[in-house]
Amino acid sequence: MNRRKFIQNTALGTAGAALFSPQLFAQLFNKDPFEMRELRGGVGIFTERGGTIAYLQTKDGISVVDTQFPDQSNHLIEALKKTSSKPFKHVINTHHHGDHTSGNIAFKGLAEHFVAHENSKKNQLANAEKSNSVDKNVFPDITFADSWKGKSGKETIKMHYLGAGHTDGDSFVHFEKANIVHTGDMLFNRRHPYIDRSAGASVVSWIDVLEKAANKFDSETLYVFGHSGDGFDITGKKADLMAFRTYLQQAHDFVAKQKAAGKSAAEITEIKEFDFKSEWQGDGIKRVLSALVDELGVQ
Ligand SMILES: [Zn+2]
Ligand SMILES: [Zn+2]
Repeated sequence: MNRRKFIQNTALGTAGAALFSPQLFAQLFNKDPFEMRELRGGVGIFTERGGTIAYLQTKDGISVVDTQFPDQSNHLIEALKKTSSKPFKHVINTHHHGDHTSGNIAFKGLAEHFVAHENSKKNQLANAEKSNSVDKNVFPDITFADSWKGKSGKETIKMHYLGAGHTDGDSFVHFEKANIVHTGDMLFNRRHPYIDRSAGASVVSWIDVLEKAANKFDSETLYVFGHSGDGFDITGKKADLMAFRTYLQQAHDFVAKQKAAGKSAAEITEIKEFDFKSEWQGDGIKRVLSALVDELGVQ
């Protein structure tokens, strides 16, 4: 047994899976705590802690979609600087949540522009003011209502706002030439989603938006998801969008049925399982039920 194998067996085998964490793994093997994966056309993804980051490298510069937290963005910047001396052209936020925008600060003075939907900026500002952290935020200097287009090298980055879903300010970010779309948190792959009613989320609209997205992009489009369940990938295809849409529709109809049967909001949010078969499993059903109870006006 070689040394590496021995450490793996003792630390991760005998001591048990409970000990396993990416941080521990990184420490044990002196390995980076993050993962970077090239997809195609100069676009890659970075994962460590928080919503998946996508990045584009061209002869003109680097564009980044979402920023996780400051430490994670610093890791990304350090790693990208090893392969490129180009400037950071865009920092794009799919939406305002902290696990997608907290790292913006690492790009302050480094990135030319910060881009997000106008509602994302509104939500980010409201949250920062509420938590007294305006100085720790970098807000977009470019916002849009329907769409925005940016260029880098031969690539065109187009942001599309298709309506409310996870919040009221989520964009789909399309690298048109590479044909890769970052969905942000508009897609939780095989994991119960967060539905931020306090920031204008709507499941009814989300169902509609997923269909719009599936029609807007094509069958070759590669999607990057904000989050995924254990063992599921953070990239996927149109079929994954449609499967998530079906799940949201079923969850919506389930709560509507409970309401019609006279169940109270308190009773519905205590339910532990849906009555339909689904790949969306694990914890988090309560946040879906609570959001739907609120949206459907269950008393
Ligand atoms: Zn997220
Ligand atoms: Zn989010």
